[in-house]
Amino acid sequence: MHGQVIAAFGRQYLVHLDDGSEIACLTRGKKSEVACGDVVEIKRTADASSGNGTGAQGVIEHIAPRRSLLHRSDAFREKLIAANVTQIIVVVAAEPSFSDELLARCLVAAFDQKLDVLIVLNKCDLPDAAAAARKRLIPYTAIGYRVLELSAKNPTSPSTLENTVQPASRKLEGRLPPLPEGGRIVEGVDALRPFLHGHTSVLVGQSGMGKSTLINALLPDAQAATREISSALDSGKHTTTHARMYRIDTSSNLIDCPGVQAFGLHHLSFGGIEQGFVEFAQYLGQCRFHDCHHAHEPGCALRKAVTEGKIDGRRLELFQQIAGK
Ligand code: GDP
Ligand code: ZN
Repeated sequence: MHGQVIAAFGRQYLVHLDDGSEIACLTRGKKSEVACGDVVEIKRTADASSGNGTGAQGVIEHIAPRRSLLHRSDAFREKLIAANVTQIIVVVAAEPSFSDELLARCLVAAFDQKLDVLIVLNKCDLPDAAAAARKRLIPYTAIGYRVLELSAKNPTSPSTLENTVQPASRKLEGRLPPLPEGGRIVEGVDALRPFLHGHTSVLVGQSGMGKSTLINALLPDAQAATREISSALDSGKHTTTHARMYRIDTSSNLIDCPGVQAFGLHHLSFGGIEQGFVEFAQYLGQCRFHDCHHAHEPGCALRKAVTEGKIDGRRLELFQQIAGK
């Protein structure tokens, strides 16, 4: 039977079958090479009580070739977290201050796997903090990354309301949220929906950025669904969900990876990381030394570009931090 892995709980996987049903599966052998989002062939096992005590009803026999693969990693190990993703959405917030290193890492992973990128700046209802965060994102918009500003606490975007309100029912206008001081319209979660269309997006963000608030607003049933799955899989002992895929509509999925703050880049070479800093491209190969690390070498084309204001200095610093590890 053919299906897609929509959740990973420890070594158990929930597979959504083509007929719409869901089935808990194990893998053969010890190694868990399966990731959320994998397209798989499964075989039903005799019945749920057939001895392994996990409640699993099937076994994953085959994994289809992947469009993309993202790894999670910490100091000790590397694991798979999501397969067949087409877009990374990095959630940063006006406050607390976000890690631009995590952002840069996500962008390198996205480049490596040829994924679209959307940066969401959340908590834009806090105007002063939002202004400061917006400033930190200038180097990213300058090199072509899309930034969507919103507030996850606004369920509906003023602009969506304006577009849907018919002229005849303009009296609804009174229900629109008031414009904040300074007149900037703060978009709500609805503003994100068009960006999800046609994609399998993975949401990444350090804790506190509002990722859960965003997911709950997008998918009001998400938490209940996850609780249901945990109990179906008898997973009291597997308290960590590594990843969970939600269906937004027939062509759009969203993968949440609770607790995953960075995608591992250990498998990338120095050159792979260089390329993930997309604005470096036109300068690569132009340093005096072909193996230049862009640190202290004379004749470094990247450092020259920084001096001339063509590359943001902080981006080169982030490159050193990431490539140096
Ligand atoms: P997570 O750790 O990324 O999942 O973050 P949470 O969704 O738990 O949010 C962290 C805190 O930020 C909570 O106190 C939220 O209420 C708050 N928060 C989330 N979104 C917004 C927002 O758009 N505006 C404001 N002001 N606070 C928010
Ligand atoms: Zn150099």
